[in-house]
Amino acid sequence: MAIHLLSKSLINKIAAGEVIERPSSVVKELMENAVDAGATRIDVAVGQGGLEMIRVVDNGCGIAGGELPLAVASHATSKLANEDDLFHVGTLGFRGEALASIAEVSRLVLRSRTAEKAGGAELEIVGGKAGEVTPCGCPVGTAVEVYNLFFNTPVRRKFLRTTQTEFGHVAEAFTRIALATPQVHFTLRHNDKQVFELAAADGPLERITRFFGRDLADALIWIEGTDGEIKLSGYVAHPSQSRSHNRMQYFFLNGRYIRDRSLQHALGEAYRGLLLTGRYPIAFLTLDIPPEMVDVNVHPTKLEVRFQDSPRLYSQLLSTLRSKFLTTDLSTRAQTSGGEDPSGGHDAARAQQMRQELVDWAKGKVAGWDAAQNAGAEAAAGTALFGESDTGERKPLGFYSLDPVCEAGIRTLPEQHAGSPIAPERISSGVPVSEEFSKHASVTALQIHNRYLVTESDEGVMVIDQHALHERILYEQLRHRLNANAMETQNLLVPEPVDLSAPEAAAALENRDLLARLGMKIEPFGGDTVLVVGYPAMLANINPVELLRELLDRLMSPGRQPERRDLLDELLHTIACKAAIKAGDRLKPEEIAALLEQRHLVDDAHHCPHGRPAALVFTREELDRQFKRM
Ligand code: ADP
Ligand code: MG
Repeated sequence: MAIHLLSKSLINKIAAGEVIERPSSVVKELMENAVDAGATRIDVAVGQGGLEMIRVVDNGCGIAGGELPLAVASHATSKLANEDDLFHVGTLGFRGEALASIAEVSRLVLRSRTAEKAGGAELEIVGGKAGEVTPCGCPVGTAVEVYNLFFNTPVRRKFLRTTQTEFGHVAEAFTRIALATPQVHFTLRHNDKQVFELAAADGPLERITRFFGRDLADALIWIEGTDGEIKLSGYVAHPSQSRSHNRMQYFFLNGRYIRDRSLQHALGEAYRGLLLTGRYPIAFLTLDIPPEMVDVNVHPTKLEVRFQDSPRLYSQLLSTLRSKFLTTDLSTRAQTSGGEDPSGGHDAARAQQMRQELVDWAKGKVAGWDAAQNAGAEAAAGTALFGESDTGERKPLGFYSLDPVCEAGIRTLPEQHAGSPIAPERISSGVPVSEEFSKHASVTALQIHNRYLVTESDEGVMVIDQHALHERILYEQLRHRLNANAMETQNLLVPEPVDLSAPEAAAALENRDLLARLGMKIEPFGGDTVLVVGYPAMLANINPVELLRELLDRLMSPGRQPERRDLLDELLHTIACKAAIKAGDRLKPEEIAALLEQRHLVDDAHHCPHGRPAALVFTREELDRQFKRM
């Protein structure tokens, strides 16, 4: 095939493919141009999630009428004068291709006026074809309107999602820029409804509150640290506020929102031990760095940048956070805000409790529940299995004490209890165990480290991951109910309002029917607040608001399966995981018994729904071999 140069139009379409992915990309580029123009007020309006119309109006410096055709030409910019400028970029834009790209795949109307002129000028471009510049009346500044995005690239248009989803992305783009530039007054409208009006402010706190709610804003901790010319400042959230994804980690570099793996990692490191696994910290952090110390020209949408000295930033972030955390009492808040908190504070409390138990044990008392009456209790407390001799005198723990006498003391675990088919409620749905059942319960496994159950199986010894097994059981139960269309909803006496971010609210309402099928009932409540009216009835002790947030995280995760069935399945996994007993939960003997009993109900008790093993078996032959019996 002969080689030939691409047409200008094709070049622009290719560039548009890189820079303009969806309506939110247009909003981002236009807002950035407005910020670069020195605007103090920027009004954004979109129709139908931006699919139909996007308008960004600013009161910045404006463009001279004669320059309008240049503004929409590719590789035309006022922001770089020479090559050297590329290495200290002080503006958000500099590639000179945004307007050209947008104009190539839409109908774009550009109106602008500079302060020196009495009137403005207007230019319309349809699918890359520019009309004539005509005079028009308009205030100083620039207004860009974009209609029918991707009308001439049907493939791209096919990739777009519903209005609500696209608006969610638009709101996120708006959020990022509004957080990065608090000194500018912003408004956002969707289909003639005002979504945000944000007055100019000194810092981002007010905006964080508006975007993410008072609960989060109240949990923020101010941090600050300077290393040479590098200044780091902003807010991080107390561990009581965390998310199951890292999208609430906002990093701003010289006024630009960026994603950076290394910084995210440093953040995660700083919270190590303060958050449960799978939870991510929340942060709004600003880095001020001399422009020559960073290369912003590595990514078409400039979302990623290259730092000259990334390791230095990493350790600056880590050490600033660590020293702040060391001087901040992170546990108090979580304890006062209720024991259910799955946060660092909670962990600290648990650690304290464990320490106390150890002390009690050392003093000869068995902590916790009535060990004396219950055969399995002592075992579950981790003290009886190896240590107790016939005389009841305690022997030191550990394998060194495994002499024949002691070995004889290892009791055979009782036969699987075949009694009551009714499981203790916490295991099946979360309400306290019934008295009746407790009496008949017999422990059939030993709980160790409050996370594994050790029991005898036909083949040998089985070690069960309590969380993984319970998750599997719940998942199977939920799936059966869902397939039978029998997922019941427990209505809340008082519906609970939940403040969400705009994208979350959009995702929630868009997936309302889907959530209802899962037993989760919500209703719009105005703005970005939704009402939780009901939750899956089988999950009695779950926090409905937390469950909703968790489901939304799942619904919004970028890599999610578009297939409806897969999505439902994923959501079931999420619910099961959330509702299942956790590693670290001390189980009552009857709870252990119920868990083991239900093990036989599930199709695949050996794996949790995530595919991790739920149980490991050490065969008798293996044990015999290891102990050199054969
Ligand atoms: P870049 O921002 O990378 O320079 P764009 O295609 O986004 O490229 O814009 C091209 C040029 O048009 C800018 O360099 C700027 O001079 C001018 N321009 C675009 N938007 C505005 C605006 N809102 N106000 C003033 N000038 C603008
Ligand atoms: Mg630009």
